[in-house]
Amino acid sequence: MADKIKMLTPLVEMDGDEMTRIIWKMIKEILINPYVELNTEYYDLGLEYREKTKDQVTIDAANATKKYGVAVKCATITPNAERVKEYNLTQMWKSPNGTIRAILDGTVFRTPIVVKGITPFIPTWKKPITIARHAYGDVYKNVEMTVGENCKAELVVTAPDGTETRETIHNFDGAGIIQGQHNTDKSIASFARACFNYALDQKQDLWFATKDTISKKYDHRFKDIFSEIYGKEYEERFNKAKIEYFYTLIDDAVARVVRSDGGYIWACKNYDGDVMSDMVATAFGSLAMMTSVLVSPEGIFEYEAAHGTVQRHYYRHLKGEKTSTNSVATLFAWTGALRKRGELDKTPDLITFADKLEKATIQTIEEGVMTGDLVSLSSLENKKTVDTETFLREINDRLVKLL
Ligand code: NAP
Ligand code: MG
Repeated sequence: MADKIKMLTPLVEMDGDEMTRIIWKMIKEILINPYVELNTEYYDLGLEYREKTKDQVTIDAANATKKYGVAVKCATITPNAERVKEYNLTQMWKSPNGTIRAILDGTVFRTPIVVKGITPFIPTWKKPITIARHAYGDVYKNVEMTVGENCKAELVVTAPDGTETRETIHNFDGAGIIQGQHNTDKSIASFARACFNYALDQKQDLWFATKDTISKKYDHRFKDIFSEIYGKEYEERFNKAKIEYFYTLIDDAVARVVRSDGGYIWACKNYDGDVMSDMVATAFGSLAMMTSVLVSPEGIFEYEAAHGTVQRHYYRHLKGEKTSTNSVATLFAWTGALRKRGELDKTPDLITFADKLEKATIQTIEEGVMTGDLVSLSSLENKKTVDTETFLREINDRLVKLL
């Protein structure tokens, strides 16, 4: 066998939880280690080690990503009350994705992986729709309070000279709730530039929508910053590339998206992107058939799967049952990261390897070999369901021929 492909710079590897942690190990053993001399800096973001390090490992992993420029992340548990009991946690640790996004800033791009035989639930969609999700601020960095009866809630901003600006939120007769959100011009501007650059790179139109008619200062600021940056820095380049930037209200955008044939990038505020990417992924087939990458303003890339840790499959796996869990999104996180590492290090072998591994994966599904979630979606006549490991071995059979 030929020499293994070398990696010049370490890739930041963030391991995770449950079924995706099992898949993670299998992908490395079956599809990567035999061909690549894997050079990673390993961080264990599994919940047990997060607890042990008081979540410092998540912060360290994010900082390592800043240092090296490319990371690949496995799905991780975001603890809730049940998980606190299950894992005996001393605290309800924050979502690792939230922590990492807050440190790296940036925008998450999610694109469905389209394969023959799986047609979108929305029949007009012919081409993938990429969701560009702003990954900083708003409700994900909010401050919330419950308010007792007969209380007055105010927004107060204190200037450096001590001057206060106040705005009444509400005079409460009965009990209630309030929430404070923020974003920064800097983060919104880098979100805008990330989207404009990605649109030019992909040669696709860019749509952006908010609720600026209701949120006349907050959402309107997003609209204004996008429009200013577009006019100053991008309009000419868009014209040259024959692509379009288009702003509309979020409700109008939803209606247009459903009627469209796809093939564009839809920029969404943080929460809209969270919700809409699940909708788009499901309509295209499955969350397990979606790529996801966080791009920071400094050009740092973190690749991940869009789905969770597939908990129910994991419990079946623990009982010794064979599962048929779809590993495509996790595998494409690896190929995305290896390809980007190859681009940055100028190692074409690594890029070619990533391309071929993706090709082998799609070929496997298009030849009718797939996991249970896809079998019910695929219109192919001859198809068979395989278990988690067999699916990866079938990919390897095809990869060997391509290499
Ligand atoms: P999930 O893990 O995405 O799974 C939800 C359901 O979708 C599964 O039970 C399964 O359905 C199906 N599914 C998802 N991915 C699949 C795959 N690769 N192959 C086959 N079927 C798949 O979401 P969840 O159950 O809501 O969350 C589980 C844990 O993941 C939670 O602790 C949550 O905090 C965490 N989470 C992490 C991330 C992340 O790290 N990026 C994102 C979301 C959630 P069936 O059981 O019907 O087969
Ligand atoms: Mg979501």
